[in-house]
Amino acid sequence: MIAILGGGLAGLSAAHHLRERPHVVLESEDAPGGLCRTREAEGFRFDYTGHLLHLRDPRAIALVDELLPDAFRVIERRAWVRTRGVTVPFPFQANLHGLPPEVVEDCLVGFMESLEAPRPDGEDVSFETWVRATLGSGIGKAFLFPYATKLFRRAPSRMTADWVSWSVPRPTPREIVRGALGIRNEGMGYNATFRYPVRGGIGILPAALAAAGGTIRCGARVVEVDLGAREVGLAGGERIRYDQLVVTVPLPAFLGMVRGGGDLAAEAVSLDWSVVACLNLGVERPGVGGGAHWIYFPDPDVPFYRVGFPTAFSDSVAPPGTSSLYVEIGLARGETPDLEALEAAALAGLRREGILEESDRILVRDLVLLDPGYVVFDRARQRAMARVLPALEAAGVYAIGRYGAWTYSYMERALLDGIEVAERLRAAS
Ligand SMILES: Cc1cc2nc3c(=O)[nH]c(=O)nc-3n(C[C@H](O)[C@H](O)[C@H](O)COP(=O)(O)OP(=O)(O)OC[C@H]3O[C@@H](n4cnc5c(N)ncnc54)[C@H](O)[C@@H]3O)c2cc1C
Repeated sequence: MIAILGGGLAGLSAAHHLRERPHVVLESEDAPGGLCRTREAEGFRFDYTGHLLHLRDPRAIALVDELLPDAFRVIERRAWVRTRGVTVPFPFQANLHGLPPEVVEDCLVGFMESLEAPRPDGEDVSFETWVRATLGSGIGKAFLFPYATKLFRRAPSRMTADWVSWSVPRPTPREIVRGALGIRNEGMGYNATFRYPVRGGIGILPAALAAAGGTIRCGARVVEVDLGAREVGLAGGERIRYDQLVVTVPLPAFLGMVRGGGDLAAEAVSLDWSVVACLNLGVERPGVGGGAHWIYFPDPDVPFYRVGFPTAFSDSVAPPGTSSLYVEIGLARGETPDLEALEAAALAGLRREGILEESDRILVRDLVLLDPGYVVFDRARQRAMARVLPALEAAGVYAIGRYGAWTYSYMERALLDGIEVAERLRAAS
């Protein structure tokens, strides 16, 4: 029997691809889907902030097309960066035109200097060093350093760079010059286009996976895993025997539940993360956001790091004549903010930035904490992961998904993790 802990996209994909073998998904919530669920309130549909599907791998494309033929449309990104009162297209590094001249100068000179600098390699390269050597200090100071600090709640010098390869595009010299002169660079970066459901929120994807096969038990909260006895303990006392275990629940929490793993549990203290406070708003006015899909806010005095507009992806996610927004605020792990004050600061920030008008009537407010939100990459994580994942596999435990594998990944990877773990489990038995 294969026990799969967690029924988010990774766990559901694993179950779907193992459906011919005895298995069970144990999910603590009352519905599967994890971070890819969609919440409904007063006719608005909110994902857990933006959940836009980026598909490149033929296996993931085939899976989504088979589960939900024609349910998604491909959309070209309309994303902006707003800083120092100026709005420029995203990615920032390729669209500097319009920023104060001294900022553009710093960014261009820093980029040129980076062309001469040796490319850093090795595991212990900090994010700060990587940015300075790859994009230049000007771009770091103007955008990436303050943005990453708000998102991860960690100084760039205290993070490693082993998460950046796919997520931070490096322009060519020609692209950076074009961008500084105001010639638009289209289509850069992993999210230049994305898929979003024609009808409904991203929750249709896990719902289709769950319906396509797989044994799922909701309301089954795992509280203990005995690696020696190969038993999972649920809240309420039930115990379930397994032969192989797939873990998609957050790794630090999983390590805290493990019995019989020697000192593995102690590695949990090496793993750090940030929390995302997501404020969803339904507003009685069409067109809030001016057509943008989302806007990044690197400036430290703005309380949020990004604001997105679901009604710009799809008109099926809100009642006619309204708009919806998600506001993302980074919190440090363990921080216990005054949620009312957080919400009030976010609303004031939206008005200051001209996104909301004083007269706007807010129909729905819904604040959710995503904890964990983002894994923080540092040397302590590198050392712990080099030990933990092999030790777990030796004990018949396969840790996958964004939080099981404790990494920075996205929905396509979660689907692929499920496909790949099914192949490995078949090969191992
Ligand atoms: C703010 C934010 C924005 C994002 N935007 C995008 C995007 O635009 N595009 C994209 O591709 N990806 C995006 N992602 C990433 C995407 O959400 C994840 O890659 C994907 O959903 C991870 O799926 P998962 O199954 O690995 O984890 P999860 O969805 O977290 O699933 C884990 C499951 O385990 C369950 N669980 C936890 N503890 C227990 C327990 N003790 N017992 C039983 N069950 C338990 C949880 O309830 C959950 O259902 C975003 C992530 C965040 C945080």
